Amino acid sequence: MAYPEAMARLLRELEKLPGVGPRTAERLAHFLIQSGTERALPLAAALEAVVASVRPCSVCRHLADADPCAICADATRDRSRILVVEQPRDLEALERAGWRGVYHVLNGSVRADATGSMPDLEPLRRRVEQHDVTELVLGTDPDFEGDGTALAIAELVRRSRRPDLKVSRLARGMPTGSAIEYSNPAVLAEALAERRAVGRGGGAEDGA
Ligand SMILES: [Zn+2]
Repeated sequence: MAYPEAMARLLRELEKLPGVGPRTAERLAHFLIQSGTERALPLAAALEAVVASVRPCSVCRHLADADPCAICADATRDRSRILVVEQPRDLEALERAGWRGVYHVLNGSVRADATGSMPDLEPLRRRVEQHDVTELVLGTDPDFEGDGTALAIAELVRRSRRPDLKVSRLARGMPTGSAIEYSNPAVLAEALAERRAVGRGGGAEDGA
């Protein structure tokens, strides 16, 4: 290794980031070292602060610096309707589309690969059973993994102590395979307004 150990360590850490290979890591490391205190130290401080202060909300699992998060703590929001999303970026997109209920962030989806791994649905089940919830809206992506996740949640509700809870899914206004986080607010607002009941045995649809 031609680099000093501290540099090699930085490269190893950068390479662990998603989408960063050895060449990108090297480019980033040189950039940070050359900009010295101007860029590298504020970045280090920001990383330290985010790790120290940002935690998942104990109610909805969204990232927050308070518990419960600002959305869960907001008394003006409709707590009877929970919009379930795969990741915090989806929540941000649906927030821009004007959703006024609350959320549940899965931080994952049913994996389409051979592992078929699942996000932990237990916190969602507890929430549905313990609180005064009237509707669960499934805001998972309209792709293979999002479909699998929506099915798993519908099944979870059917086996819960609230089997008659209304479960709906965003309308198919978005192209199949698209991602919620990249959809524009108007399209998402329409998909929310025209959400469809997830049928119990293919039951009737009521998008109310
Ligand atoms: Zn929350």
